[in-house]
Order: sequence, then structure tokens, then C-alpha cells
Amino acid sequence: GSTTLTPLQAPATPSAPAVVPAVVEAPRVPTCHGTFVEYANFDHGASTPALVSVRAAVDKATATYSSVHRGQGWASQVSSHYYEAARVEVARFVGAREGDEVVFTRNTTDSFNLLARALPRRTQVIVFATEHHATLLPWESRRTTRLPVPLTHQDAEALLRDALQRATSSSVLVVLTGASNVTGEYWPVERLATLARERGARIALDAAQLVGHRRVDLDTLGVDYVAFSGHKIYAPYGAGVLVGRSDWLDAAAPYLAGGGATAEVSPLTTTWKTGPARHEGGTPNVLGAIALAAACAAIRENRGALESHERRLTERLVEGLRAIEGVETYSIFGDSADRAPVVTFTIDGLESSLVSAALSAEHGIGVRDGKFCAHLLVDALLADEDAQVTSAVRVSAGLATTDEHVERLLAAVATLAAEGP
Ligand code: PLP
Repeated sequence: GSTTLTPLQAPATPSAPAVVPAVVEAPRVPTCHGTFVEYANFDHGASTPALVSVRAAVDKATATYSSVHRGQGWASQVSSHYYEAARVEVARFVGAREGDEVVFTRNTTDSFNLLARALPRRTQVIVFATEHHATLLPWESRRTTRLPVPLTHQDAEALLRDALQRATSSSVLVVLTGASNVTGEYWPVERLATLARERGARIALDAAQLVGHRRVDLDTLGVDYVAFSGHKIYAPYGAGVLVGRSDWLDAAAPYLAGGGATAEVSPLTTTWKTGPARHEGGTPNVLGAIALAAACAAIRENRGALESHERRLTERLVEGLRAIEGVETYSIFGDSADRAPVVTFTIDGLESSLVSAALSAEHGIGVRDGKFCAHLLVDALLADEDAQVTSAVRVSAGLATTDEHVERLLAAVATLAAEGP
């Protein structure tokens, strides 16, 4: 059928970076005009199509497999080796320090819930209202200070400095995002982390929208924990990771009590392992971890090509959308802020669900509309405008995005804006 996803070995268009292993051939999709067009996927911020090299790694790992860390059989040893090699790749990918733990989870949301459960008693959490709900909400049973949406980098620093001064607990965790899933803007993580460290606070970084675009190095950034998901960096759904300091994690109750997490079980006592196994009870998502690590390796090895491909697309998207009359684009830190290939916009008087439905039906373009699991931020951004809409449209590009997709999107948005409500 015309919508079957087939592996593509070579990039189909000149705009795809030649050295990055290609994703999948874009399917041809029907439009309401009775034609078929190549699907233009502008929803990479939600999930990314798997890389060919990721599929190959999964294929290889499925050729022989058995339980990890549970058997001396050859297949068990091969699977255990692949699983642990995935941990090593992830540690390298984020510049983990000696002694940091790499715990495989289901996704970023799971990683932050795990961290929330591992916080020492009386830890006070400081988090900006700009966060994705995955990063905003897991602390609700804790004393949490929610900082308002800042307007500039300096404002973000001032808000955090003030909150740190007012924090009374000896244990404080500052939760930051690396790149906003709404505006794509990169956050001044290094500077904010320095402030937090000066107060003796720990820092957890939500890198779900960052690691696929920019290098993350725990040591250089000065953060204690980082979390991200495989499905946003060209691996399939189902695996995420939490990397960081081992002491809180080793002292915490196991996140998933069960087999694999225990060192010894007697009728009266259970002794839990330390290290990642403590929180990875049951048979882990080994293939997910292998896929996630293969994506990390591909990104690490092709960083230059990936960044220049994305920079070109981002510049054109931002400049093109801003030039359309009746279109408003949004930013937290101002229009010149550096950003990942993510742009959120509205068209005057047009509800975002209508815009995204029209882009899909008429032009074969997939975007997101709504509030992107960041209700507080989207409400704040829209409140400042007189766009008279309650939600927005997000376009997010990636390795599968071509120049033709971008031009088609800009032309389609211009047509919708000209037609108006
Ligand atoms: N943080 C950010 C910035 C995100 O964009 C997302 C997903 O949209 C998440 C966290 C949650 O990721 P997941 O749904 O994989 O748990």
C-alpha cells in the first residue's frame, strides 16, 4: 500500500544530511483534493521515525536473545552484553561522571517519577512553570516552588536566585528544561545550574527536547541528573533513561520491586541491590535500551551534519512563518533566542485544531495543535497576544524534514492566513 513505511538506505533529497543514517522513506498520503503527496512530518518534537542504523541494531539483538543477567547460557550472555553496552553508550553520550548511574526507564516521564520517589525526605523542589508536565508534575507530593514564566535569561536567573535564597530545606532540587517543547528555545542551563550549585542544590535536567539537537555533557553543564526518551531521538517508543548521582538512587526504595532488583530474599527480610538494577525490577526493555543507545551513537557520530541540517531548516521556518501576515510565533526569551527546530505559532482568529486539520487534509502535512502538555506556558504565551485563540500549532522538524516540506508548509500557512476565519 502507499502508506507502508519502507527502509530507505540513501537520503532521497539533497537537503538530507548525507552522513546521518537515513530515517524512513516518507509515505505518500491522500489529500482532500484527490491527490497523493509525500507526507511532510512536522511532528518530530513528539516522536521521531527510527533511523536505519537503529533498526539494524534491534535486528541484530533480536537474532539471539534470552534473559539478561539471569543465565549463564550463551544467549543470555549475548543479551546481557548488549544491554550493558547500551548503558555504556548512554553514559558516554551525556558525559556521565565516574560513579553516575544509568537507569533505563520507560520514558522521560518515568525517569522524573523515579527521581521524585528517590528524593530524600524534606527535599524542596524548585521548578519553572514553563516545564512540560512530565517535569512539572511528578513533585506534587513534595514542597514545590513553582517559578513563573521568565521573560529573559536574566529574569530566569533572578527568579531562581530569589527562590534559592528563600528555600529553607538543606536538600533542594532544581528542575530545568534544556529546550522548551513549545518554543524550542534553549535554556541557559549552565548559568542556572551554577546558581543552584552555589546554594548547594542539585539540578535535574529534562533533556527530552535537547539531546537530539545539542550535545549534553553533565560535567560541563554542572547538572546532577539528566533524563530523556528514545522515541524523540530516532529510536522506537518504550525506552527512556535517567542518568546521574547514585547516592539518592541507591538509598531509595526500589522503583519496581521484584526479580532482578533483589540481592537476597529470606522469609523475614529482603536485601535490595544497589546500582541501576535496584530500579529496573522485572525483565527490562532490553531492545528499547539497545535502540536508544544505537540512536545516541548515530547522533554522536554525525553531530555536525545533524546540526547544520537543522540550523538551515530552523532559520527558514522561523523567518518564513514570521513573514506571513496574520501569523504570530512565540518565544519565552525573545525572538532572537537560539532554538531547536521547533516553532509554535497561531493564525489570527483561526483555532489551531482547524489549522492542523487543514494542513493534514489539504497538504499532507502533520503538525501538533493544542497546549503540548505545557498548559501553563502556552496559556501564558497566548495571554500576551490578541490572537483570540486558546491553543497553538507546533511545527517541529528533524532528519526526515526536507526543504520541500518546509516550503510546502510555509505556502500552506500563508494560504490559510490569507483566507482567514
Ligand atoms: N519533557 C519534554 C520537554 C518533552 O517534550 C516531553 C515529551 O513531549 C517529555 C518531557 C515527556 O516525554 P515522554 O512522553 O517520552 O515521557
